[in-house]
Amino acid sequence: MNPIDIDIPGKTPARERERERRPSWLKIKVPLGTKFSEVRRLVDEQRLNTVCEDARCPNMEECWNRGTATFMILGDICTRSCGFCSVKTGRPLKLDTDEPRRVAEAVARMGLRHAVITSVNRDELKDGGASIFADTIRAIRNRLPHCRVEVLTPDFQGKTDAIQTVIDARPDIFNHNVETVPRLYRRVRPQAKYQRSLDLLHMCKEQGLTTKTGIMLGLGETDEEIFEVMRDIRAVDADIITLGQYLQPTKAHLPVERYVTPEEFAEWKRRGLELGFSHIESGPLVRSSYHADEQSAV
Ligand code: SF4
Repeated sequence: MNPIDIDIPGKTPARERERERRPSWLKIKVPLGTKFSEVRRLVDEQRLNTVCEDARCPNMEECWNRGTATFMILGDICTRSCGFCSVKTGRPLKLDTDEPRRVAEAVARMGLRHAVITSVNRDELKDGGASIFADTIRAIRNRLPHCRVEVLTPDFQGKTDAIQTVIDARPDIFNHNVETVPRLYRRVRPQAKYQRSLDLLHMCKEQGLTTKTGIMLGLGETDEEIFEVMRDIRAVDADIITLGQYLQPTKAHLPVERYVTPEEFAEWKRRGLELGFSHIESGPLVRSSYHADEQSAV
């Protein structure tokens, strides 16, 4: 999940000066519309978390005004401390087994045809929270049989039983982000392993699921490294890839090494299509769940 500073009601105020330094294509305003307020109310009423807020997503105005949001299950405290991510780190609260029902309720009331569910890492749990993912998929299916369900999961520390639990619930799209190039893992995702993420995607694909992954650009990777990662992802037969600009959520997080231009993102899209991906979202403000409903037809 790639975070960014924006003004979110009731959340941390934006760091205006930092935003001023950004190139024009990343300067965005976040006025509130009616739909936005409805989503806000529903999320609060159902006591849910969204990655839109916790990762300070730049697309919140657009997505929430379209009546979509990405729910973040398993609480709002993560057991890992990735260098790019603004979600809180610490000891998580007790597991909330009623959460799948409330997510399904929110999805039904929002009338979503494509729901995206992600989570924090819960490495202290034996199954990493996989059973709650599976319960959430089933709860949405029971409530809204025609709603497509996309999950964006952690790596479950590579535990195949846990991954299998989610696969068995048959999400329409299984998304797991590799996030960056392998050379930068120690700085960006110290508790993750590049090969482990590729293996997870491979395991899902082998069992017939549509798979998706994403990387952030601007963390210091080279063009050759980006292309190498795209080739690795195609080698495990992933269907969908997202590429977006990394933005520093706070001064304590990794700095932006480079702003990638919209033209470069367009070029990555062209090269990705040549490699054979079914769908590519590539642009400065692209995030894992950005326009996810439009990718679901692959
Ligand atoms: S791109 Fe995803 S995380 Fe960002 S606001 Fe839209 S749904 Fe939420």
